[in-house]
Amino acid sequence: MRAVKHPGKCRLCGELKELTPEHIPPKSAFNINNITVLPFEEVCKTLTGADGRMPWDINGLKGKVQQGGHKKYCLCKECNNNTGNWYMRAYTDFAKTVNAIIQIEHLLPGNTYSFTIKDLYPLRVFKAMMTMICDLNNDCLGDSNLRDFLMTKESNIIDTSKYSLYMYLVSPQAVRMSGISAQVHIDDPKNPVLVSEMSAYPIGFAMYLDKPKDYTPFGLNVDCFADADYNTKCNVQFSGIPYLDINSQFPIDFRSKDDIINCIVANEESME
Ligand SMILES: [Zn+2]
Repeated sequence: MRAVKHPGKCRLCGELKELTPEHIPPKSAFNINNITVLPFEEVCKTLTGADGRMPWDINGLKGKVQQGGHKKYCLCKECNNNTGNWYMRAYTDFAKTVNAIIQIEHLLPGNTYSFTIKDLYPLRVFKAMMTMICDLNNDCLGDSNLRDFLMTKESNIIDTSKYSLYMYLVSPQAVRMSGISAQVHIDDPKNPVLVSEMSAYPIGFAMYLDKPKDYTPFGLNVDCFADADYNTKCNVQFSGIPYLDINSQFPIDFRSKDDIINCIVANEESME
């Protein structure tokens, strides 16, 4: 009998099976460069600034280098193949088009842009993004409706009042992936914002779980993508999509280096 090399619970179908490696995002969507994966305790060193380290400085931290792009064992072979064929191809084409726009139009982080993408499959792209969010979280977020939505190729039945997806452009070399985390805001500490983020050039997206109504996230809401049919292909206008810089490992932190430095200076002054 062949030994099961990577046994585990598939994050999509929930079955105990052999898990297969998967590029997240897809390899041909620019996920080919070596990346350093930092364990949580090393990430913390970039957050506290205890040793005078800036959040974007990961020099000397103890991480594991992954050759040839970010890969993870999240899904079984069948779920991997299905979501790859059904959704990830459309996502890869989308990422390639976005990259071409960034290169040809010389787009720069820190600005907001508008452009039209031709021949986009909105539902497939939406489902690719939600599949990647599931890759980062256990047990399909504990939601059998979400599982059905992703495991049924043509389904567009999803509760977008529960899951809201916001998209933005992110700068090269920026990679940030996080499962659901709670962000507590000083103005409203009783209502933490629950978010899972997946950002890797050229596209980043954040999925908000039961987003508080008065909270406005970064990026362009793309929930309407889920209203399309599986075979609907159309021209989609992206109006006012931000091109964001990622300078910390902290989820949905899009402060520029200058903003971060100003925050540190302000904190130090307030402590004096
Ligand atoms: Zn599976």
